[in-house]
Amino acid sequence: MSHTLVIAEHDQGQLKLATLSAAALAAQVGAPFDFLLLGSGLAATAEALRSAGARTVLVADHPELAQPLADRYAQVIADVVRARGATLVVAAVSTFAKDVLPRAAALVDAAMASDVVGYEHGAFRRVMFAGNAVATVELAGAVKFVTVRGAAFPAAAPSATPSPVEAVAVDAATLPKFATFVAREVKQSARPDATEARIIVSGGRALKNAEDFERLVGGLADTLGAAVGSSRALVDAGITPNSLQIGQTGKIVAPDLYLAVGISGAIQHMAGMKDTKVIAAINKDAEAPIFEVADYGLVADVYEAVPELIQKLKK
Ligand SMILES: Cc1cc2nc3c(=O)[nH]c(=O)nc-3n(C[C@H](O)[C@H](O)[C@H](O)COP(=O)(O)OP(=O)(O)OC[C@H]3O[C@@H](n4cnc5c(N)ncnc54)[C@H](O)[C@@H]3O)c2cc1C
Repeated sequence: MSHTLVIAEHDQGQLKLATLSAAALAAQVGAPFDFLLLGSGLAATAEALRSAGARTVLVADHPELAQPLADRYAQVIADVVRARGATLVVAAVSTFAKDVLPRAAALVDAAMASDVVGYEHGAFRRVMFAGNAVATVELAGAVKFVTVRGAAFPAAAPSATPSPVEAVAVDAATLPKFATFVAREVKQSARPDATEARIIVSGGRALKNAEDFERLVGGLADTLGAAVGSSRALVDAGITPNSLQIGQTGKIVAPDLYLAVGISGAIQHMAGMKDTKVIAAINKDAEAPIFEVADYGLVADVYEAVPELIQKLKK
């Protein structure tokens, strides 16, 4: 019988909302689905998942899983797939899923499709070539793995009946130890994460240095309660950290509003943000490609327009 396992992603216990999009695909497929939550000290995280429509919230809670080391997580996922006869494993597109899911798929000899944006009659639609092509693929074999783009699968309304929580036994002695956790460096920021934010203000090469980026892009973001993002040009120039990069090789985002400040709109950048509901752009070049996808455009110098915008928004 078909059965889907949705891998619940969290950051130190804080549930990632994109997990609910993975559950939305699972619901669309139609087979009963369980969440699988991995980590340590997960009681509150499991509780938060109980209203998300799953048959069961499975919890692999063990100190050896406190950090998301891919080799360990992949093995636990593979063990649960085998033990419970899962036929489909789903996770949201993320760096975590990129690291863990293909390893787990390989352990159970399963086919995998990433960046799924649609499902119909057993086939998955996935984006390719920086979003320029959408392929319809059928995965062979008894078990299939997919990662889904959050924007394509809006979270379902919370269910009235809470799902039961069930512990999954973890045998620490059999966990692989290829990787060792050394340290975690987190840049503390009061701003929301771009993958979870409703509004993103994103800056490009028009910003000449880190101070200008913080003053203009950061300042506008704070005025709007938004997350900040960056084009790769600024990351490569050392002006912004890699964690802010939006695009094909950065984060894939789909907020309600994406405000592109001095970004040209290269295809690799747009691959990461074109599912946004409303795109607004400020660029001094009226021919910049970003204006082809923007719902609102302002042809202006960001050094003049952004301070004025901040001032007006504050009023
Ligand atoms: C394999 C590969 C993967 C890539 N992945 C990514 C990715 O994930 N994300 C990403 O962003 N890029 C990615 N790139 C790079 C991408 O091709 C572009 O080089 C990059 O997005 C350009 O960034 P930009 O728009 O900030 O800079 P530019 O293309 O240089 O554009 C700057 C824009 O600012 C405008 N401007 C300049 N000064 C002002 C001013 N004072 N006021 C107003 N406007 C001004 C200009 O008119 C111009 O349109 C990738 C490239 C490759 C080859």
